[in-house]
Parts: sequence; structure tokens; C-alpha cells
Amino acid sequence: MAHDVDRDRLARLTAREQEHFARANPRSRALFERAGASLLGGVPMPWMMRWAGGHPVFLDHAAGARLTDVDGHEYVDFCLGDTGAMPGHSPPFVVDHAGTQLGRGITTMLPTEDAIWTGEELTRRFGLDRWLFTLTATDANRAALRIARQLTGRPKVLVYSYSYHGSVDESFAVRAPDGRTVAREGNVGPAVAVGDTTTAVEFNDLGQLREALATGKIACVLAEPAMTNMGIVLPDEGYHEALRALTREHGALLIIDETHTFSAGPGGCTALWGLEPDLLTIGKAIGSGIPSGALGLTADLAARVLAEPEADYEDTGGIGGTLAGNAFSAAAMRATLEHTLRAEDFARTVPLAARFADGVRAAVAAHDLPWSVTQLGCRAEYRFEPEPAPNGTVAHDAADPELERFLHLHALNRGVLITPFHNMALISPVTTADDVDGHTAVFGEALADLVG
Ligand code: PMP
Repeated sequence: MAHDVDRDRLARLTAREQEHFARANPRSRALFERAGASLLGGVPMPWMMRWAGGHPVFLDHAAGARLTDVDGHEYVDFCLGDTGAMPGHSPPFVVDHAGTQLGRGITTMLPTEDAIWTGEELTRRFGLDRWLFTLTATDANRAALRIARQLTGRPKVLVYSYSYHGSVDESFAVRAPDGRTVAREGNVGPAVAVGDTTTAVEFNDLGQLREALATGKIACVLAEPAMTNMGIVLPDEGYHEALRALTREHGALLIIDETHTFSAGPGGCTALWGLEPDLLTIGKAIGSGIPSGALGLTADLAARVLAEPEADYEDTGGIGGTLAGNAFSAAAMRATLEHTLRAEDFARTVPLAARFADGVRAAVAAHDLPWSVTQLGCRAEYRFEPEPAPNGTVAHDAADPELERFLHLHALNRGVLITPFHNMALISPVTTADDVDGHTAVFGEALADLVG
């Protein structure tokens, strides 16, 4: 919790913003009330209950870096579908190419040339040699864990405390103060005790990593190269070299999840930092938000996978889904990777994210708040502590849901959308400097309200 903020004042300001929100959004409110009779929690997906304001605004349409709700408010969108729309909403080249495929067969259980093009491009960008496609990053991670257990014959997965990799059973694990691996708070109906499947260690802690790998039970490390789901937590200098050396030494496979860290550049952190994962997973933005995901393997692993006669990859062995690799999804991935999130796009978005971070820093300094901002490529995030967090647990302990709620609602009421989870902002290739400066101005007003 941010100790520098007067909590009574925060409560009064939040009530003021809540009233404003209620007055300004009658149509969204009416739709939300109607939805309560048919949709769980009045939303199509429980995460949507999280938006500040008590209910989400309902979408009318979105294009580029903007969206418009059913009450006619236009927003500059820094949430971008929590990364799915990182190329901007409905990019014309995706509408065109995937739209054409939409009229020529959606799902047929047959491959298309777009899938090959996408595999070739993913190899060029990320370096892994063979790819299989899924519909989500979650599914890519699930497949990666199965493959890792199958190939190593070991039972356990290592993850970082407070990481997030989708709704993957093994990943909802945190390290308790006594070193045990326990379920993350709120985990819904776990199949087995998470400590049976998983060892959780703190990010940036090589001692814990070494100790866990030395047990010989770890099939794989499932790692975001920088943590992005508890604020942004960057790796210490040399961490990745040590992680790679230790996983090799102890015979554990290294899975790098680039779903969010794709914000770092055209080949994610893997290309930027020269990482050498055995498997790589990605989803969300690679199809501009049209359901798609990918799992990459080294040539060596791919050969080992195909040489395992007792593992059924062709039918009911537990890998894949009926709609995975469908023609529509492949067209969306091809169009996205062919026309956006390329080096020239990041040359535009990364400086704009720096502008965003600098704007936030200047507002924070002007109001004498001891807060900090971290940037990873076209993603930036502020936190209510003076220093960047070294790991997920420290980041988790500094969260301040009341303060976040006020800042998010204040911004929403003024036409600026940031993700309802923590304080993350993404810059798309069609976001402008004016959009960024608009956020800086609104954020500065919120801080002026907060601290006077
Ligand atoms: N990996 C990471 C790093 C993520 O942040 C997420 C979702 N936020 C996922 C995987 C899962 O993505 P999806 O829910 O689209 O499957």
C-alpha cells in the first residue's frame, strides 16, 4: 500500500469519480443490468468484472489505438486488450487478409500456406526451429509442460512466485516464507496440491533456483524473461546466463514465455537478449487478438518429440485442439507478422513508451511522490514504491488496489484506458505522441487531486 497517500482523501476522490462514472454511462449500466440475468457476473468473462467503476463500459467499436463505448465516449486505449491488440485494434491488413480467409473456409483440419509462412517468420524472429500452433498462449504453455515432462521423465515444473502464464494448473504457485511451494491465494478448485507438481522460486534468486534444480526432479523452468504480470520485474545482470547454464547443467528444459515480453522487440526478449530457450511460447498479439498461439522447439527437441512412439501427438495424447492451426488464425498471424510489430514498428513504439514513462516520472516528481516507472520495449508500468521490484513477491506486497482503482477510474472518466490489472500501458504502432501526452496530462491531474 502506498503510505504517502491520505486514505480519507482517496476514498472521497474515488466516490467523486464513481458518481461521475454512473452519470456518464447510462447505456453501459443498462446493458450490464440486463446481462446480469444471463451472464455470470453480468459479463461474458469473469475478468471483466475487474474494471473500475463497478461494471465495464460496453464496447461499440474499436480501431487503431482508440475505442468508443455505447455511451459515445471515445478512449485512447493503452490497455489494448491486455496485449492481444498490441498492433492496434483491427489493423487494416489483418482485416483484409484474415477477412478474405473468413470467406474462404475457417477451419478444415487441413494446413494452409499461411501456417508455413508464419512458422518461417517465427523462426527468423525467435530462432526456434519448429512450431506448432494453438489458439491461446495458455494452450501453448500447457503443451510445452507436457512435452517437457514427456521428454525428461521428470514430474515437476519450476515457476516464479507470482508469475502468470494463463490458466495453467501448475503455474498458480507461490513460495511461502518457509520455502514451501503453496497455491496462490484464490486458486479455484486445484486438481492436486500445487506443491506436488510445482516448485516456486523467487525471480532473480539464483540460490533458490540452484537448490530446486539440484533435486533432479525439475522437468522444466517456465519463465517469462522479464515478469510482466505483477508490474514489470526486470532480470538482474547475468541472471539469464546463469539460468541457462544451470538448467543445462541439471538437465531441465527452459521454456521462455514471450506472450507479453513480445513488447521488447520483433523477436521479444529472446532475440534482444540472445536467450537460448529449448521451447518458446507466445499468443495474444501474434494474431492481433484473433485466437492464436504458438509453441516453438529446437530442432533437436523436435526430433526427440517425433521419435517417441509411446507419446500420441496425433490424437488423444493431450496436445492440441480441434480448432488449433485453423486457416483463419493462420491468416491472422501471417498478416500480423508480415505488416506490423516489425523492427520499424518498434523503432516507433519504444521511444513513445519512453515518452510515456518520462511523462509519468515528471508528474510523480512534481508531486513529490516516491513512485517509480519501469519500461520493457513498448510496455511501461508505474508502481507505488521508489525502486523497481526485484521479484514477484515484493511487487505483490506493494500492490494498492484502492489507489489503482482511483487512478484507473479517473483516467477512464477522462477518455484514457489502462489495463484493469496493475498499472500497465502499451503503445501500439498507431498510438501518437499526442495520445501519450494526453495520458501524462490526465495522470498529472489525478496526482494533483491526490496530494493537493
Ligand atoms: N503467458 C503470459 C505471460 C500471460 O501474461 C498470459 C495472459 N495474460 C498468458 C500466457 C495466457 O494468455 P491467454 O489467456 O491469452 O491464453
